[in-house]
Amino acid sequence: MIRGKERIASTESQQAGHSARLSFLRQEMEAGRLDAFVVSHLPNVFYLSGFTGSAAALVVTLAGLTLFTDPRYSVQAKEEATGARVEIVRGSLTSAVAKHLSRLGVRRGLHIGLEAAHMTVAQRSTLGKALGARARWIPWDGHIEAARAVKDAGELSLMRKAAKIACSSWEEILPLVKPGVREIELAAELEFRMRRKGSSGPAFDTIIASGPRGALPHAHASRRVVGKNELVVFDLGAILRGYSSDLTRTVFVGRAPAEIRRWYGAVLEAQQAAREVLRPGVSAQEVDAAARQSLQRAGLGKQFVHSTGHGLGLEVHEMPRLAQGEKWLLRAGVVVTIEPGVYVEGKGGIRIEDDALVMPHGAQYLTDANRELIELG
Ligand code: ZN
Ligand code: ZN
Repeated sequence: MIRGKERIASTESQQAGHSARLSFLRQEMEAGRLDAFVVSHLPNVFYLSGFTGSAAALVVTLAGLTLFTDPRYSVQAKEEATGARVEIVRGSLTSAVAKHLSRLGVRRGLHIGLEAAHMTVAQRSTLGKALGARARWIPWDGHIEAARAVKDAGELSLMRKAAKIACSSWEEILPLVKPGVREIELAAELEFRMRRKGSSGPAFDTIIASGPRGALPHAHASRRVVGKNELVVFDLGAILRGYSSDLTRTVFVGRAPAEIRRWYGAVLEAQQAAREVLRPGVSAQEVDAAARQSLQRAGLGKQFVHSTGHGLGLEVHEMPRLAQGEKWLLRAGVVVTIEPGVYVEGKGGIRIEDDALVMPHGAQYLTDANRELIELG
């Protein structure tokens, strides 16, 4: 997720990154016989131009790059999107984009790619009406997302730092996890520490789920008081210059009974099984299957109720999904989470999540917080 308030002065290396991304995209546009591509998904606008504002569209042609935004961002757009021609629009961005496209001089009729999944019906119809029969609109979703899945050195350096911020913040608040503390207080402590370490904010609403609430995989921190002899699931992430980390750890408040230890061991083993198969050429579904089969062997297959992981970067959930039926082949430079879990109604949940970078011959974790079962209090 891009947080609009975070302004990023563009550096030389970022500009080099943008021009490499654009030349790759233009090769794909040429292969797809596109004259122009309208980018409306904000993380993609940022990826290609560096602009972090909350209202924008980008038109990519084989020779040009034009950013459309509103007057609130006139200074910021020029600072951030140094490689683009900036057009400040009073009124509808879509109408301004349509006008721009209609001025492109192509005799045989324009072939224009769209991010159809990120446009409203009204926006489509505004573009359609403005260009009429002169344009052919081609849904062109997923092209930038596929490129974004493979991170460059600059992106990886930010993601390593974002991972470190999440890990060290979580480790720092462990002494506060004891009976009597509220989930929401722990979330506030975590977010405070992440910000102090340079994060522009949490990558998503921090999840803290104690006791039976842990059986809900997406329980946001509540006012519930942590009790003795309970599991507590922490799922948190930091954003650093647009890039997110995503970390889950589960601790036990008190001495963990044998059953909990067994479940924890099974989740950790499932995570290791997935990590071991993670390498270039392996499909996303094979990574999911490795974790799933491991939990099935432990008799906990039915308690694993979600997919094994997801791509991570400018968005917390991006390509690829590590899930059943996903045939996408992993490549070096892809960052995914591996986050198996077991959820038992009435008792709670155990999830362990790390961010893994696919390397030429395997995988490496970006997150390094202690993965063993921690017993507190
Ligand atoms: Zn998470
Ligand atoms: Zn995740």
